[in-house]
Amino acid sequence: PYDVLVVGAGPAGAAAGVYAARKGIRTAVVGDRVGGQVLDTDTIDNLVSVPHTTGSELAASLNAHMADYELDLIEHQHATGLTPGGDGFTVHLTDGNLRSRAVILATGARWRHLGVPGEEEYRTRGVTYCPHCDGPLFRGKRVAVIGGGNSGVEAALDLAGVVEHVTVIEFLDELKADEVLLTALGKLDNVDVITGTATTSIDGDGTTVTGLSYTDRTSGQEHSIDVSGVFVQIGLLPNTEWLSEAVELNGRGEVVIDERCRTSVPGIFAAGDCTTQAYKQIITSMGSGATASLAAFDHLIRNQA
Ligand code: FAD
Repeated sequence: PYDVLVVGAGPAGAAAGVYAARKGIRTAVVGDRVGGQVLDTDTIDNLVSVPHTTGSELAASLNAHMADYELDLIEHQHATGLTPGGDGFTVHLTDGNLRSRAVILATGARWRHLGVPGEEEYRTRGVTYCPHCDGPLFRGKRVAVIGGGNSGVEAALDLAGVVEHVTVIEFLDELKADEVLLTALGKLDNVDVITGTATTSIDGDGTTVTGLSYTDRTSGQEHSIDVSGVFVQIGLLPNTEWLSEAVELNGRGEVVIDERCRTSVPGIFAAGDCTTQAYKQIITSMGSGATASLAAFDHLIRNQA
């Protein structure tokens, strides 16, 4: 068996793999694609100490960094289950099972999509899911934020300081964000809010986004607005369905972790976007991947076979 088996090979999983392998213990990283969500983006400007990189460059660097160490990188494998037993755990994969004394869950998350025409076509060309990442790309421009929950309103507050104008679009008849956020939003003169609307398409000129269309759900009337960017903020879904009841999840399906990335089960740790970690970013995910590995090592030395 392995000492540490990391499931997921995004920033959190790669960091966990490197930190575990540096302890000289038997380490494997299993995942369906090295890089994870960073493969879905072009521009990365907030990985501190790397002023600018791209998703594919960062994925190649994660791969190269893991290759510097003695660890088994098992790609193109999907984990389907996790069961305790014997001295450790069994991780069930598409092609067979692996045993390990400790497991680090780093399966990340995916943004919930609107599923309207134009969303896929203009993804990274005006359609984005991350205000922290892409806000500065729209400096001085008009943008829309879709979703009026806490993330949508936080995104609007964040963007209002950078862009020329923000329109918040909410499907329900009122915004669902916390009162304190709504009060702050109400004080801004470059933000409009439209409620009771269903976005029907994201429109563009073939190269970038130029606007979006929506239906007023009360009158049924069609409208469109001119924007250069659309921030979709309707939820982040953790990739934890496969865990079933193996560890405690919160109401949003995130793996509940403590400050050492320990889950509800001793010997199982978790890091990155699949967890309750606040602020889902590359740098925070790498940090928690490192924490999870150090905590796993601590667990192993206290529970010698
Ligand atoms: P992920 O990157 O999601 O990696 C998890 C990996 O596990 C994936 O490869 C996934 O396919 C795999 N996996 C899932 N389930 C299983 C399973 N059952 N078995 C095996 N493998 C599995 N953050 C920034 O800091 N700066 C940015 O500029 C930035 N831009 C972004 C742009 C886009 C378009 C997106 C989508 C995200 C962006 N982010 C950015 C957020 C950042 O990418 C994430 O916070 C970060 O990748 C999370 O790392 P992770 O390792 O926790 O998860």
